[in-house]
Amino acid sequence: RSRYSKMNQEEYIRSLFAQPDEILADVIKSIERQGMPSISVSPEGGIFLTMLVRTANAKQILEIGALGGYSGICLLRGLRGEGHLTSLELKQEYADLAHANLKKAGVGEQVTYRIGEALDSLGQLEREGKTFDFFFIDADKPNYSNYLEHCIRLANPGAIIVADNVLWHGRVYDETAQEDSTRALRAFNEKIAGDSRLESLLIPLGDGMAMARVKEK
Ligand code: SAM
Repeated sequence: RSRYSKMNQEEYIRSLFAQPDEILADVIKSIERQGMPSISVSPEGGIFLTMLVRTANAKQILEIGALGGYSGICLLRGLRGEGHLTSLELKQEYADLAHANLKKAGVGEQVTYRIGEALDSLGQLEREGKTFDFFFIDADKPNYSNYLEHCIRLANPGAIIVADNVLWHGRVYDETAQEDSTRALRAFNEKIAGDSRLESLLIPLGDGMAMARVKEK
């Protein structure tokens, strides 16, 4: 019997490319121990983030939705030396766990958490004149389109924007699915696909990752 028997696409990809990773496995365990939701980015999604940050040669990264720090570690792993992650998180206790996990991963000095509603923090970052080379949108789905608009305004020319869960387990293309989150993600996908300021694509990795590059003006 082949080693690949009965594997689905995700298991096949994971078996080849997502090697066991002690640091990330500990993050997942810490999230479970604290009774937090198991909604970190997928292992292959994390690898994709690392690869994209590195390829884009990004220095300043903005993440919306920290949870336990899984994606934060993956994003920071992509930096070449200098660079910084600004991570927006609603809950102080989630950001505390994320920060502890980033410290354990050796990248705790390269992150700043901003606690509260991400929309408020995004407005604040704009008022401070901050700009970023890479964005990862992974928080409350109803605000995805608002987050995208803010990210474009905070983007350096050529910046990369990635958003997770945009297939929503296939619900976005099931017209009978009409929950708020599904409708919001559908609207987000239409926006990111059609916005003339962006070059974009939806990649069917994990639960679907949308990716866009902000065009030079
Ligand atoms: N990016 C994380 C990872 O892959 O490791 C997972 C993030 S989890 C899917 C979503 C996070 O967004 C949660 O930690 C949640 O508390 C946070 N969140 C939800 N609504 C938010 C809001 N309005 N503003 C800021 N953060 C929010």
